[in-house]
Amino acid sequence: MRTQVAIIGAGPSGLLLGQLLHRSGIDNVILERHTGEHVLSRIRAGVIEQGAVDLINEAGVGARMQREGLIHDGTQICFAGERHRIDFRALTGAGVMVYGQTEITRDLMDGRAASGQSTVYEAQDVSLHDFAGEKPRVRYRNDGKETEVACDFIAGCDGFHGVSRQSVPRDSIRNYERVYPFGWLGLLSDTPPVSEELIYIHHPSGFALCSMRSHARSRYYLQCSLAEQVEDWPDERFWHELRLRLDREAQERLVTGPSIEKSIAPLRSFVAEPMRFGRMFLAGDAAHIVPPTGAKGLNLAASDVWYLSRALIEFYREKSTAGLDQYSDRALARIWKAERFSWWMTMLLHTFPDSSEFDRKVQLAELDYLVKSRAAATALAENYVGLPY
Ligand SMILES: Cc1cc2nc3c(=O)[nH]c(=O)nc-3n(C[C@H](O)[C@H](O)[C@H](O)COP(=O)(O)OP(=O)(O)OC[C@H]3O[C@@H](n4cnc5c(N)ncnc54)[C@H](O)[C@@H]3O)c2cc1C
Repeated sequence: MRTQVAIIGAGPSGLLLGQLLHRSGIDNVILERHTGEHVLSRIRAGVIEQGAVDLINEAGVGARMQREGLIHDGTQICFAGERHRIDFRALTGAGVMVYGQTEITRDLMDGRAASGQSTVYEAQDVSLHDFAGEKPRVRYRNDGKETEVACDFIAGCDGFHGVSRQSVPRDSIRNYERVYPFGWLGLLSDTPPVSEELIYIHHPSGFALCSMRSHARSRYYLQCSLAEQVEDWPDERFWHELRLRLDREAQERLVTGPSIEKSIAPLRSFVAEPMRFGRMFLAGDAAHIVPPTGAKGLNLAASDVWYLSRALIEFYREKSTAGLDQYSDRALARIWKAERFSWWMTMLLHTFPDSSEFDRKVQLAELDYLVKSRAAATALAENYVGLPY
């Protein structure tokens, strides 16, 4: 088999890149380890920056998002039992789109099926070869059959646990990492959201987030210890603990119901540098992870794809390697700003097991400053709605 770009992973990065390349006449194959249903079963991101919205529209799959997505012009921050609003629109002129990652993935999969480009699901033992030279190749097994794909470039869009980053010789890559001493327990339910905007809650018992996917579907998170299992959290316990962390008005408005999904995600900051190795490029979670507090993971995946798709299109149209040569530096400059913001939001809002009384007082003073200072609120709003590409 031969293609121009072999893409590893059919998450949002891989599917979006494949669609943008296809629309520019660049042939590509996507190899995905799991089934399409499995990829769609992962409940993750929900807050989409305007840059990512524009890219999804450019990929030709934005119609449903435009119809069903919710525009949010602000967010709410709750501490010491009081809620405060940060008005994104007034402070920056922009808002964000609330539309689930699952729905974006479904729209991209539908677009891909209509494009006729090849996607191999359940591709086992994917391996990357000769990407340091001119003729990279990818091998995989499917239905007991071994296949080799010859290509011009490989895009490693296979997430944090993927094979692409692991295929790079150790002395060619440097990893930067911070692991946080807690996780997020998430619950999805077909209940109306407690608020029209997201509520970020700092509480002595731990952080909580009230989010949503639609007017009828809510997504809630509780900070939990890493030792805990989903089985420790029957729905009643989750709702009880969430209610404790809410302000009085939200406590009264909260509508509970059976969960349709529950999972625990550990929190981590991670960056691998560089993101280019000869003819192989990393994009999305394959190269970096942010704690979800800043809602940046999917948005960073989209900005990587923006830089990489343009670089590849420039290569094929103009025979120029300038964009490819700059890809890693340009993507990383944006990534580190999102890493900083996500780390800062995490430090600001969570309860740390080893923090002192002094640390807790400083944290409350910083929250108070944030909601009372226009400059501080603007800095949060600018980062949240997304820095320019
Ligand atoms: C609880 C939670 C909440 C989040 N909330 C937000 C949010 O509000 N906003 C936001 O922007 N981001 C959020 N994120 C982050 C966001 O979900 C990720 O950043 C996003 O999924 C990255 O997309 P990706 O395509 O790069 O990687 P992935 O989604 O991980 O996709 C990678 C794909 O590659 C496949 N793969 C892996 N290994 C191989 C292999 N060896 N061979 C072939 N295929 C392989 C995987 O099966 C997968 O389908 C959240 C994440 C979590 C966990």
